[in-house]
Amino acid sequence: MVWNIKLEDAVVLSFFFGLFMGPLHETGHYLAYTLFGYPVTFHYDSIECPIPIANSTQAFIIIAAGWSILYFAALVSLLYTFKSKAFVYFSPAILICGVDAFDSAIDLIGLEHGDKYSLSTILGLSGSSIPLLTLTLGIIFLYLSFQFLNKSDESDKNKMTWLLGTLVAGGMAVALWLLVIGPIVLP
Ligand SMILES: [Zn+2]
Repeated sequence: MVWNIKLEDAVVLSFFFGLFMGPLHETGHYLAYTLFGYPVTFHYDSIECPIPIANSTQAFIIIAAGWSILYFAALVSLLYTFKSKAFVYFSPAILICGVDAFDSAIDLIGLEHGDKYSLSTILGLSGSSIPLLTLTLGIIFLYLSFQFLNKSDESDKNKMTWLLGTLVAGGMAVALWLLVIGPIVLP
């Protein structure tokens, strides 16, 4: 059976998923905070907690929950792709892997101290250890995704266009949320 790539559909789906990717990540943190009973406030790019987190186990779970919920969404995207045999549903998984690699690289070169840096230090490791691990995994997943695309009968050029189109459209939507829409609707 031939699996259809449908570039335009994938780009549109990736763009709309990208708009919700930031809030979904914060929802992971929010749910973990709420599970432990903290009185938190939801912002477009962070969850504000007025009291210190009780211990490092809770801190680890709360921080890890942000990316965990996105990896869960990537798994759903992969399973739905298999179920429907349409690559359009694979674009959120591609976007998550791409943004994960980008986020890891930013942490690794020290431009910010994000979730992955914090998780490393909670574990008593060097701040760059988890960013390095997740950057490596992100690149491996992107490579495997391209191999997975080989199930379609499109040319290599079309597959590369699909992969890049999905990453660029979704990446623009993530930036649009963080820089324009988020600060307005969820300051
Ligand atoms: Zn986070």
